[in-house]
Amino acid sequence: HLSVRLATVGQHVESGSRLADIGSDHAYLPINLALNGVIDYAVVGEVRQGPLENSKHEIAKEGLTDKLHPRLADGLAAIEPDDNVDHITIAGMGGALISHILETGKDKLTGKEKLILQPNVGEENVRRWLQSYGYTITAEEILAEDGHTYEIIVGQKLADQPEYSRADLFFGPHLRQEKNTVFLQKWRDELSQKKVILKNIQQSQKSEPEKIEQFTTEIKMIEEMLE
Ligand code: SAM
Repeated sequence: HLSVRLATVGQHVESGSRLADIGSDHAYLPINLALNGVIDYAVVGEVRQGPLENSKHEIAKEGLTDKLHPRLADGLAAIEPDDNVDHITIAGMGGALISHILETGKDKLTGKEKLILQPNVGEENVRRWLQSYGYTITAEEILAEDGHTYEIIVGQKLADQPEYSRADLFFGPHLRQEKNTVFLQKWRDELSQKKVILKNIQQSQKSEPEKIEQFTTEIKMIEEMLE
């Protein structure tokens, strides 16, 4: 049984694709996709031995050792040219770590892969990475589960990359058009949190003009979007 978060990531994996799931402490996503006949080949990359053993155990338990290939590796180093991977999922980590994994592993990317990225926080990092390497954000999702809000960002290299505004990178180009209830709730919460933080910075003894400017700008952007 898959979380709504991982099931939604999985919906962006096309049938018959060759997947690399990076950072897979239990391999639930590739296991679910393989059991449902969506994929019959996946690299399961994990940087830590303990979680990798966990993945191996789950894969063996489901009888999927011929289809799912667990490998101990840092980020995209898990991918070999012969894998012919065309989908990469990186889920359940911070946006800064996801961007770091893409940056350090960029030589492994052919540009033909669909990148399905699910940052828990720091989504803007991910969008900025995609923008700087010429990717188009082809889809986005936002969902709430167990008191958390999760975003999914899909990047693909297309012939033309759209120009992304500051607001596109901050809120998500698709999410800010769609403005669904989860999105609006997330940004109402962010707005009140940022106001509290700004007040604290302004009242503290330390002078932090850059932080004050950053929070003031972000608060203004959120207020304008919510208008
Ligand atoms: N992807 C799963 C999900 O969304 O439920 C697991 C998320 S789990 C919180 C993050 C996993 O990523 C951990 O098992 C961690 O060891 C692994 N990880 C962190 N940095 C990594 C890296 N550079 N390369 C591969 N795996 C990494």
